[in-house]
Amino acid sequence: MMTDAAMPELLRIPHPNPVSEAERVARIADPGFGKTFTDHMVTIRYTEGQGWHDATLGPRGPLTLDPATAVLHYAQEIFEGLKGYRLGDGSMAMFRPDANARRFNASARRMAMPELPEALFIESCRALVDIDRDWFPSAEGGSLYLRPFMIATEAFLGVRPANEYLFMVIAASTGNYFKSGAPAVSLWVSEHYNRAGPGGTGAAKCGGNYAASLVPIAEAMQAGHDQVIFLDAKEHRWIEELGGMNVFFVFDDGTIQTPPLSDTILHGVTRDCLIALAREEGLTVREEPYAIDQWRDDARSGRLVESFACGTAAVVTPIGKVSAPEFSFVIGSGGPGQMTQKLKSRLIDIQRGVAPDTHGWVFPV
Ligand code: PMP
Repeated sequence: MMTDAAMPELLRIPHPNPVSEAERVARIADPGFGKTFTDHMVTIRYTEGQGWHDATLGPRGPLTLDPATAVLHYAQEIFEGLKGYRLGDGSMAMFRPDANARRFNASARRMAMPELPEALFIESCRALVDIDRDWFPSAEGGSLYLRPFMIATEAFLGVRPANEYLFMVIAASTGNYFKSGAPAVSLWVSEHYNRAGPGGTGAAKCGGNYAASLVPIAEAMQAGHDQVIFLDAKEHRWIEELGGMNVFFVFDDGTIQTPPLSDTILHGVTRDCLIALAREEGLTVREEPYAIDQWRDDARSGRLVESFACGTAAVVTPIGKVSAPEFSFVIGSGGPGQMTQKLKSRLIDIQRGVAPDTHGWVFPV
């Protein structure tokens, strides 16, 4: 689908009734994750033949949709997740919004949706962080979590790409993902369910992928585990990723491995950062397939010393234990490992402006 080159300006609509300061201060003291929403939102419409138009930054509020709206039936929807931070000098910044803009457009192409100019994606996020900066949580380790997304809004029940879309950005005041720092998580190997298959939508950040992962995640939780690890759909042997995080393995010779990117894995921004940071530390990072039985054997022999999952929300999360129907194994001491902690600190220091940003990852607001 063609992208319209014209980039509309965001029209600022005054908020008639923002949340009172007392209420906001109370809410941002303990915001939790993804439930304490800010006052504003961005909306931009797309119409086939006209391109992107009617861009606004205005009061946050409900949408009115025709019951036949395409997204409600065929799930033509994509989204992103990124964070706004407060730096040491009190200014606000975003982390790698350009990478999210590119991935958003890759998702759009896969879902037959129009691409959004990268600059418009970034400006929409920037303007929202700017106007809602007072929603930045007061608790340590918090952020403004940004959720850009796009839905097919044409009211039409035929199965074909819609000709009208709505792009939006909302934001949530977000506390530390894990209250007491990062505990090691326990993973369940999904025996029956796959997250993605070759030629499918695994590399797109579309809502349907997440809907399909809810049953295996619920099963894992019922069995007392924190998260699911998905294997490849063909051989059910190669490790792919968690429901919302990529995965890394650390060996006793100091080398690191992560599954290679493909059309069945989400191309994580955090994954990309950690590969770069590890290589800067002089570490060897292999992007190669790793089998579930090898993981078990290496953990038991001590060749594998640490494993961690990574993503925007929780940054880096140590993996302590892995269970499958026929076996279960503990990784290292079962708690956070040294390399995991080191890479996590390196990344967080750059995000917070404590360490210099030599990569151009931090975007001032
Ligand atoms: N895999 C999946 C399936 C995800 O939903 C996410 C979160 N976006 C990730 C990996 C990690 O990606 P990122 O580091 O860009 O947040």
